[in-house]
Amino acid sequence: MKSILLLSLIVSGCNQFPPIAYQNPELMPVVNIVLAEGIKRNKFYSVKDITIDFADLEESAMGVCETGVDNNKIFIDKKYWVDMPQDREQIMAHELGHCLLNLEHNDLYRNNYPVSLMDSVIFSSSIFIQYRNYYYDELFGH
Ligand SMILES: [Zn+2]
Repeated sequence: MKSILLLSLIVSGCNQFPPIAYQNPELMPVVNIVLAEGIKRNKFYSVKDITIDFADLEESAMGVCETGVDNNKIFIDKKYWVDMPQDREQIMAHELGHCLLNLEHNDLYRNNYPVSLMDSVIFSSSIFIQYRNYYYDELFGH
């Protein structure tokens, strides 16, 4: 009886459960705004497998997406998030572009405007607000 129990423990220890992703509740309202823009465009995505949290990032970085075999992770610089609330949606949409939609950077400009939210440099929040609909069409159109 003892050996059977031991065997079953070994077997269940081998089960590959996906790692549990953590989502910081303070960031989720903005994540949900971005996901809602996808839903409007009939793109239904879940972030349940993506860790989304704050971190202390290097000087120039506002957010990063780390892709891994088991769990993609978005880290947002806490100080930037607090200091620049007008950029929150753009940053989150950009990082979800990487970590959720598997998009790479697109640094093209057209008529002096960045073509994509996947521009590697964050652009003016007034441009984002003015052309918000276009940018979400572009983001989810891929
Ligand atoms: Zn990027």
